[in-house]
Amino acid sequence: MNGEASALDTYLRAQEQKDLLRFITCGSVDDGKSTLIGRLLYEGKMLLDDQLDSLKTESARVGTQGGDLDFALLVDGLAAEREQGITIDVAYRFFATDKRKFIVADTPGHEQYTRNMATGASTADLAIILADVHRSNDLLTQTRRHSYICSMLGIRQIVLAVNKMDLVQYDQAVFEAYVAKYMAFAKELGPAHVEAIPISALRGDNVVSPSKHMSWYRGPALLPYLETVEFGREAALRPLRMPVQWVNRPNADFRGFAGTITSGAVKPSDRIKVLPSAQEASITRIVTMDGDLETAVHGQAVTLVLDREIDVSRGDVICAADAPVAIADQFVAHLLWMSPEELLPGRSYLMKMGTSAAQATVTSLKHKVSINTLEHSAAKTLHLNEIGSCNLSLDKAVAFEPYSESREAGSFILIDRITNQTIGMGLIDFALRRASNIHWQSLEVSRAARSSLKNQKGAVIWFTGLSGSGKSTIATALEKRLYSLGRHTYVLDGDNIRHGLNRDLGFTDADRVENIRRVAEVARLMVDAGLLVLVSFISPFRSERDAARGLMGEGEFLEVFVDTPLEVCEVRDPKGLYKKARRQELANFTGISSPYEAPEHPDVHLETAHLSVEAAVEGLVRILDAKGLTQG
Ligand code: ADP
Repeated sequence: MNGEASALDTYLRAQEQKDLLRFITCGSVDDGKSTLIGRLLYEGKMLLDDQLDSLKTESARVGTQGGDLDFALLVDGLAAEREQGITIDVAYRFFATDKRKFIVADTPGHEQYTRNMATGASTADLAIILADVHRSNDLLTQTRRHSYICSMLGIRQIVLAVNKMDLVQYDQAVFEAYVAKYMAFAKELGPAHVEAIPISALRGDNVVSPSKHMSWYRGPALLPYLETVEFGREAALRPLRMPVQWVNRPNADFRGFAGTITSGAVKPSDRIKVLPSAQEASITRIVTMDGDLETAVHGQAVTLVLDREIDVSRGDVICAADAPVAIADQFVAHLLWMSPEELLPGRSYLMKMGTSAAQATVTSLKHKVSINTLEHSAAKTLHLNEIGSCNLSLDKAVAFEPYSESREAGSFILIDRITNQTIGMGLIDFALRRASNIHWQSLEVSRAARSSLKNQKGAVIWFTGLSGSGKSTIATALEKRLYSLGRHTYVLDGDNIRHGLNRDLGFTDADRVENIRRVAEVARLMVDAGLLVLVSFISPFRSERDAARGLMGEGEFLEVFVDTPLEVCEVRDPKGLYKKARRQELANFTGISSPYEAPEHPDVHLETAHLSVEAAVEGLVRILDAKGLTQG
């Protein structure tokens, strides 16, 4: 039996045990989504008696056509409860028929909830795109958006449910004209199979059984189609992948790696390779709660035991030895932006990919995609719900596959480091070749060697505060003092750097982020050279200061908050900038027309309204002394 046939065989056996179709319903408000889900739950006998009773009473009260049950009442009732919460999330509903089990992801339809739709779609095998032909015989923006996101997220089975056929007299021509328009659009999206079904969710036409009103339609009704549609074959035919969720080590005699198999199959004696370390071993056991297995396939949660001790930790991926995943730290990816705050290229975001995590920065935004026309246009940033293609750079290499090959190993989310909110979803197109070609040169004259020649340890003393707060004055005075102590120092000053290295940058949020990123990188090189670097930049955003700290080693970054009230800075106004800003001759001026995020836990807090320059320098020298930075 060849490899493909045996994989298919394993797949078919697994399907017998566990035939579960995950789908998502996408529709705008009033397209009939609630009615459709309500009816499927009802037909799937998933309603409790008391829910059914109150549905009957409520339907009678609102007086539905012909005494039908109003299923929208049922689902909307649940939705209303949800919407009271602070976050509106995806509701997963479970139902089953004799033939198959289903999980439907129900997501609110408003445009601002695209993130919920994308979350639901990312795990779905099939999408029902619901269209209201009565409202419009053209494709709505929502319909295009939903279809685009489903295709981008790799859904290869689409049901176009053309709803409210009862309101257009069950007219075949109306249905066919709409389907033709949709197909012309869908052709641009990629290789999905589209099954168009004319329905009336309200009247029940073609939902569970064939409609009496549309004898011209020869295809299946919706539920029978969902019960028989094929899905998930690709995962079975791909090589073994299992991201390690945790290392299971209950005692000294047992060590196993637990996770869910995302593709392929595994059996004892199979050779595996663990990425990123690339160490190999053989499987000895597949352990589950219900005993050991002879074979396990994608979708199953198992603990794998290996024949020898190798280093495996959470986030690593166990792969077939002859077909491992790749590793890289730079990618081209598509991003769906989900935050009301715009994307800032250069800012470092937390990236979560499967079970691994890294710091990621968008190094350049190549273009954004118009969901309506699928055209590309140049962009400096992405706003809420926008989709763009970008280059991403990570602080370490991670195991990955292109999204087109694996939805699990090719997708990630971005999280804001400060608010902890999910702000973007990304799909990897491919790794940048240069990621694997450029290695940090480990030169023979080491950092330690440079440091010992200078007889000092390198570090950054990072001054942050409003313009005129006294950063430069104190940094310059401190530098003199350190010089007199025989220390090698350098001051990086905002104004000076803006004349040279950063003269291409202005004062928008995006440019400020890049301004600080570059300075932090320069400071890092100088620390590597063994210098004490005094950085004097307003550096108004917490994220970038944290990112700068993240670039340096433990104990090499000292954040000094030069805390001077705005009124005092304004009176000092050493460069006359506040007066200009007040006359509105200066845009984006920190403290007046651009925000300053004060440090929450600075290493040093200097309140210059009550502290002389000399006293501030004395205090700093004492702290540097205690850290061993003023002597060799
Ligand atoms: P920044 O670098 O933060 O923009 P500057 O150091 O250029 O600020 O300007 C601060 C101004 O405030 C200088 O004119 C300085 O002489 C004055 N100043 C008055 N008191 C203090 C103090 N205690 N600490 C620092 N600067 C002070």
